[in-house]
Amino acid sequence: MAHVLVLPGDGIGPEIVAEAVKVLGALTKKYGLSLTLSEGLVGGASIDAHGVPLTEATLAQAQAADAVLLGAVGGPKWDGLPMSDRPEKGLLGLRKGMNLFANLRPAILYPQLTHASSLKPEIVSGLDLLIVRELTGGIYFGQPRGVRTLDNGERQGYNTLVYSESEIERIAHVAFQAAQKRGKQVCSIDKSNVLETTALWKEVVTRVAAQYPDVTLSHMLVDNAAMQLVKAPKQFDVMLTDNMFGDILSDEASMLTGSIGMLASASLNEQSKGMYEPSHGSAPDIAGKGLANPIATILSAAMMLRYSLGAPEHAARIEGAVGKVLDAGLRTGDIWTEGCQKVSTSQMGDAIADAL
Ligand code: NAD
Repeated sequence: MAHVLVLPGDGIGPEIVAEAVKVLGALTKKYGLSLTLSEGLVGGASIDAHGVPLTEATLAQAQAADAVLLGAVGGPKWDGLPMSDRPEKGLLGLRKGMNLFANLRPAILYPQLTHASSLKPEIVSGLDLLIVRELTGGIYFGQPRGVRTLDNGERQGYNTLVYSESEIERIAHVAFQAAQKRGKQVCSIDKSNVLETTALWKEVVTRVAAQYPDVTLSHMLVDNAAMQLVKAPKQFDVMLTDNMFGDILSDEASMLTGSIGMLASASLNEQSKGMYEPSHGSAPDIAGKGLANPIATILSAAMMLRYSLGAPEHAARIEGAVGKVLDAGLRTGDIWTEGCQKVSTSQMGDAIADAL
């Protein structure tokens, strides 16, 4: 039986994860989904209990599980801690410790939410793009890093953008293989006019492309990509990015879909084990108020069933149920528009579980 480690985390994390667990429970009850769940602490919750954002024991549990379902980490309570002890370090530790180098972030605009997007309907309707982001390398992990004091007494911050050819190759393969199952186009994002590392990125991606003659490769500078995402986002099928560019562009893409509360994500290793989490953070401004949209987390659970647990039929049931509930006009505050029924986090979870 598949085993999932559930890490609710901080802020709205426990609220939204509870709704995803509710939906998985309903699948078990109605369709015999066979799953064992265990729960652990990560982020600020782990700092409060154990003094560190991720314990060795929790990492070992995550490595042993078939998949991890995570809420979000962080919040103002822990903002004063040194960078190395912050809640986000727990997340980075899981990504590194499970070797989750491939982050898949779909940005799909549900037709029912066209009017919740910040862009005009004719620009976004039908949007279905996938951002494939490298997750364990680049400037977020590069050494050396830190803040040093110069001879003149001034402090200087420094980070290192570093990618080896093998790191670029393996994420490029993920993007090309994903594109083969979709629109057969990959747009690789770089800043090759300024940064040597991303010039190498462009060269290696071009080399890998030769193995995928059925996929069309294009290249785009990251600043233009940021502009094109709001100008003509439907031109993209799969966007292939490094760690930092993908972090920023995927949040931008999320706005096209109406709300960051709709965006699921999967982070996979070479064995297709993965960690599944919404693309948003812990939203401390709305935590504990029943205002959070649980759909991104529920759709992340669907991705988990599809990519790591070999149960695409159950994934499709969840996605279908989300569509039905949106059709029925139920909306959390972040996607609410005139004429729809405003519901709380748990009411949204109940409705999706009932619609399965
Ligand atoms: P955020 O994504 O938490 O929130 C940005 C805005 O979107 C807020 O107004 C929030 O209320 C709203 N929002 C987010 N998720 C929502 C949902 N499901 N439903 C409705 N509205 C939602 O980003 P932030 O405010 O920059 O960061 C808050 C904390 O989260 C920080 O501590 C940050 O470090 C952390 N963070 C964690 C992750 C993660 O765990 N993967 C990612 C990003 C930020």
